[in-house]
Amino acid sequence: MNKTRVRFAPSPTGFVHIGSLRTALYDYLYARHTGGDFVLKIEDTDQKRFVEGAVENLIKSLGWCGLGWDEGVFQTAEIKDDKIPVYVSKNYKNIFEAGEYGPYIQSEKLEIYKKYAEQLVADGHAYYCFCGPERLEELRNQQAADKKPPMYDRYCLRNISPEEVNEKLKENCPYVIRLKIPENETIEFEDMVRGIVKFDTNLVDDQVLMKSDGFPTYHLANVIDDYDMKITHVIRGEEWLSSTPKHLLLYRYFGWEAPKFAHLPLLLNLDRSKLSKRQGDVAVEDYIKKGYLKEAIINFVALLGWNPGSGETQEIFTLDELVDKFDFSHVHKGGAVFDIKKLDWINSQWIKKISLDDLYQRAKEFFEQKDFYTNASEDKKTEEYMKKVLTVERERLQKLSEVGEGNGFFFTDIDYDKELLRWKGLEDEKIRESLDASGKIMENITHENWTRENLEKNLMAAAEKYSNADGKPDRGRLLWPLRAALTGEKKSPSPFEAAWVLGKDKSLKRIKDALEKI
Ligand code: GLU
Repeated sequence: MNKTRVRFAPSPTGFVHIGSLRTALYDYLYARHTGGDFVLKIEDTDQKRFVEGAVENLIKSLGWCGLGWDEGVFQTAEIKDDKIPVYVSKNYKNIFEAGEYGPYIQSEKLEIYKKYAEQLVADGHAYYCFCGPERLEELRNQQAADKKPPMYDRYCLRNISPEEVNEKLKENCPYVIRLKIPENETIEFEDMVRGIVKFDTNLVDDQVLMKSDGFPTYHLANVIDDYDMKITHVIRGEEWLSSTPKHLLLYRYFGWEAPKFAHLPLLLNLDRSKLSKRQGDVAVEDYIKKGYLKEAIINFVALLGWNPGSGETQEIFTLDELVDKFDFSHVHKGGAVFDIKKLDWINSQWIKKISLDDLYQRAKEFFEQKDFYTNASEDKKTEEYMKKVLTVERERLQKLSEVGEGNGFFFTDIDYDKELLRWKGLEDEKIRESLDASGKIMENITHENWTRENLEKNLMAAAEKYSNADGKPDRGRLLWPLRAALTGEKKSPSPFEAAWVLGKDKSLKRIKDALEKI
């Protein structure tokens, strides 16, 4: 059997949509699962939608997520496989192309597309159309008034003779080339996700293949590229399903074998409307900025349309595990709901799962964005200290942007109202006794033994002995004033965790400060 060749074919329109990432991920997973090749090509024929820097951004975001490709468009000349030719892109600065089947950028193939479009005309499968925008608009309005679907009426095919066509071309009249869709035919293909899909050609419009600006449309360029690049599997979003009959006709007219198709389910908001910016972020970059880990994003996106199969309960997957388990029999047809709570949960699992070293490296830039951190003294910015903070925080963190949130007391001096120290109306005297007791216990723990476990063991043992006015056990009498003294916050990690991070000297100093307040 031929080697699988899968391509990701984004248009450089700015940011990477989470839906595009899902397509890229499934491309990658399928290519890797089958031991095939993964190709990155750029579909930039729609010049109106082009955004400066978008290609670079795309390469960066995919790279950040850890999805490597074998062939196509790259940002550096360091391409893994030294057997394939590498060259500089004609149209993009600082972009390289690598592989035998390029160019991998559509704007660099205009001559090729033109040749093929003319071949279709010569073979009678496509025709020149000189209808201007006014006539087309009139037609559309009429069709709308007649409640008919908007379709080109083949005016130029029916009314303009080949001689007239030649004349108009000589006169440089603007034109487009349209695909001649056969009448009364059913086009059928087997989609890897949806099974047999059928289209009635009478409902398919004579698609424009070449635009008046000399650029091909997506349809023509896409098919020619996939043929040129020997693509075996086209994996893309469901929104392209209605284009597939046009593509299949092109394969037929060119006499080429069509690749296999897989159309991935739509991404939906919680209310099952199409995933849109209005209800939340849709750009991968936004999620990166908010402190979602790449592992979590990949893990979450993989589950938008795929599951490991019935009876499987695993929800946390590494990229390698996904490569191993992924196949199309478990990709579903129904829309996939984007639930941010699930992403948060998966992210919190990954924050707990990666090593502390790794977490520290990734969290640093998020600390650096916080005022309490930039204003803190140098001893609070050491790796050792920050790792302690992270050890405490990682149990509760949902995203890295939350680091230090509510825990500024680890970094800066604290100031609070003395009433914060008061546990259930306890008199000042009793609070002082309680803080004294905590101070004594902590004084007796040496610097070497200053661990969370020791702090918890010793302080808890003492706290268990306290009771309230009714004689009921009341650990809060010891622990509340201590926690308040250490953190100056109504809500915070436990006093053991706070004291462990702050260290012995700082903890005792804060107890002393609290005693002075009360
Ligand atoms: N350029 C299209 C996109 O932006 C590619 C569709 C396809 O894969 O055929 O999604």
